[in-house]
Amino acid sequence: MALQTRAARAWSLATEMAIPQSFIQELINRTDVVEVVGRYVPLKKGGANYMGLCPFHGEKSPSFSVSPTKQFFHCFGCGKNGNAIGFLMEHGGMSFIEAVKDLAQSYGLQVPEDDADPAERQRAQQQRQRQATLNEVLEKAGESYRKHLKTSPQAIDYLKGRGLSGEVAKQFGLGYAPDGWRNLASVFSDYQDALLVESGLVISHEESGEEDKRYDRFRDRIMFPIRNVKGECIGFGGRVLGDGTPKYLNSPETPVFSKGRELYGLFEARTALREAGYVLVTEGYMDVVALAQLGFPNAVATLGTACTTDHVQKLFRFTDSVVFSFDGDAAGRRAARKALDGALPFASDTRNVKFLFLPAEHDPDSFVRAHGTDAFARMVSDATPLSRFVMEVAREGCDLDSAEGRSLLAAQAKPLWLAMPDGVLKTQMLNELANAVGIGQHELQRLWLASTPSGTPSFNPSTKPAQKSGFASTGPWTRTGNNKRPPPLGINLRSKAPSRHDRALQILFADMQQWDGLSAHQHHLLLEMPAPYGELMAWLNQQWLENGVQPLAGLREGLRGHSLEAVVSRLIDDALADIDSDAGELQSIMLALEKDQLSQEIDSLTRRMASDPLAYERIKQLNGRLAVLKKAPLV
Ligand SMILES: [Zn+2]
Repeated sequence: MALQTRAARAWSLATEMAIPQSFIQELINRTDVVEVVGRYVPLKKGGANYMGLCPFHGEKSPSFSVSPTKQFFHCFGCGKNGNAIGFLMEHGGMSFIEAVKDLAQSYGLQVPEDDADPAERQRAQQQRQRQATLNEVLEKAGESYRKHLKTSPQAIDYLKGRGLSGEVAKQFGLGYAPDGWRNLASVFSDYQDALLVESGLVISHEESGEEDKRYDRFRDRIMFPIRNVKGECIGFGGRVLGDGTPKYLNSPETPVFSKGRELYGLFEARTALREAGYVLVTEGYMDVVALAQLGFPNAVATLGTACTTDHVQKLFRFTDSVVFSFDGDAAGRRAARKALDGALPFASDTRNVKFLFLPAEHDPDSFVRAHGTDAFARMVSDATPLSRFVMEVAREGCDLDSAEGRSLLAAQAKPLWLAMPDGVLKTQMLNELANAVGIGQHELQRLWLASTPSGTPSFNPSTKPAQKSGFASTGPWTRTGNNKRPPPLGINLRSKAPSRHDRALQILFADMQQWDGLSAHQHHLLLEMPAPYGELMAWLNQQWLENGVQPLAGLREGLRGHSLEAVVSRLIDDALADIDSDAGELQSIMLALEKDQLSQEIDSLTRRMASDPLAYERIKQLNGRLAVLKKAPLV
């Protein structure tokens, strides 16, 4: 079983492939965001856009709009916006790389892998195919388990006895593996297929030297399909019906299933997490299903392992608030301690981590049934905050009346404190710990940091992966640090009403078709606009010459890392709801630009009239043209 060390994790991040920006742009240009969002959110055509209920905040009437022209989604309620990749990251919980791969696969594109040699690429390709096949095998087994549940009164009675409705059982895809050694032989045509062993469905005793004795791993058990964040079946949990052992049995580690990374119920809970505003991490799949039945659909569970940093990282892609729930016994306390270790590297100032300890005789299911949903909701809101739990753990076994006891506290607190990301919370913790130890805050910090080897800064996964792959975690826009650079001089960031230049930029980026419709002279006028607008128009012109008309989302990808990205970010990303133009608005702007240009030229010629004999004739010409323009109707 692969134990992921910090070093291994850092290494895997460092070797993560770099995807060329041009590929991302092409991918976005080929993608249909309406189709991608439509996989998750029912959409209805309304005018030029598609509308639906926002998946990022709870609402009754649709304010979530998806634009086929711009290739963006935008919510007028909560302000969330982005392109297809951003949607898969925000709603599907995928990492950037996962989202790119997912889209590339749906649109038949091969993700270029810069650093990989052909053999490596082929190996990766084979692995992907094998994983897809394993998912299919597991899916097929799951279907057969569901069929068996319908015809197994004792299994149905068991679920009813646990208070579960047919609806919830269906939502989680619950099934039943009947008693008997080779039931799957009637599901799969070849019971000897190596895939059945590799998927963990069948156990083989081949290696013992005897003839191959195979049998089903899951027998006479309620089956809980375990899905990844894409909804694919990657394994099963099985709960025995009677008194057999083990009570709970999970799929073994396979190429598609890793207990240290997967959380039961995350796929099913993903929308509820946003509505509830937090995720509840429980200890078992029965808790998750029962809580969903009882009005807490925002619960997930680890799969018979302690909560790891990988688990926590995954959860923080869906929500900023995590509540770990534990049974109130010694085992629960130990599990909580491990979850604390998993969570500390992510305890940034904007996140909230709490620990809920149930009374010793209860699990979440029995607690809600005994005391009601309100009482449980109160338990959640009164749960122990991470900062207090750190103090409790640090104090454990310390006699604070003695210098030795206070020193022990410092020793126990040090690794916890060092694991936290820098921020106000970490500074406050230092203050509190220093008070408990009885020395000054700066003295404690000096002692702790002095004994940490320099050159190996504390691992901070909440920011490091984002930097390694070139993306900040705050959203689809902020992929590079470049947009943090100060805007060029002369741009007034405070100004609210967009200028004529602002509008020209917004209109042409939002609907590049309009650039296509302008004359060469008009293009020239736009290229002549003052900095930074002229430069951005030149960039747009270059895109037009190279790639033709593109949706805004594609242009936006092409601008990543450009020195003027900040300008576009302010004028377009921040004003996505207001950049659409009426027919003719661009023509009015073009007219005004031409008039300005004529007036300027006339002014400059007038100043030269004394020395330039041709100036007078030219001024007469230009005035004639200006008079025509002034008569032109303003649309
Ligand atoms: Zn919204």
